[in-house]
Amino acid sequence: GYRTRSAYKLKQLDEETGLFGPGNTVVDLGAAPGGWLQVAAEEVSDHGTVVGVDLQRIRDIDADNVETIRGDMTDEETKESLRERIGEEGADVVISDMAPNMTGEYSLDHARSIHLARQAFEVALDLLPAGGDFAVKVFDGQDLADFRADVEEEFQYVRSIRPDASRDESSEQYLVGKHRITAPVAAGD
Ligand code: SAM
Repeated sequence: GYRTRSAYKLKQLDEETGLFGPGNTVVDLGAAPGGWLQVAAEEVSDHGTVVGVDLQRIRDIDADNVETIRGDMTDEETKESLRERIGEEGADVVISDMAPNMTGEYSLDHARSIHLARQAFEVALDLLPAGGDFAVKVFDGQDLADFRADVEEEFQYVRSIRPDASRDESSEQYLVGKHRITAPVAAGD
């Protein structure tokens, strides 16, 4: 079995949008305790690679194609170690299930969630070549529309998905950006 119920959310995102393929390099942000790592490791098969990052230590996953980095994704240092690990070729998919420690104060939790989602988006823009995919957890609220609009500018299309495995009372959803576009810079008017 999987370590988390979140694993089933990722399976649904993959089924609905076709995130993973054999041989892919996947970056998983906020990866502890490792449910998403287990799903991604299966989907990319032996010749793929999954790199997980979390503030928390991640207990070893029983798969040879998974590596983990312990660090804070809001730190430049962690972004740099990830960049070094991924190398020139970049990643095929960046996924993030990062969530803040919930305070119960709706607007604060929302703002922190969008902040983490933007960190993940920055990593996606850094590591994904054209054609790459991005999936990120977000909580509903006032800043979501602006964030989504920013993601829409960088991908061919964006879908919002509320997985069946998310709790009913939860305000979480996932944005999936498919096929990164690397648009040529507009040459003036
Ligand atoms: N997808 C995971 C799984 O299936 O096992 C569950 C992820 S859990 C919902 C959210 C994770 O985000 C927590 O483990 C937390 O430590 C991590 N996280 C939150 N803020 C972070 C940050 N700034 N940098 C790295 N990880 C972070």
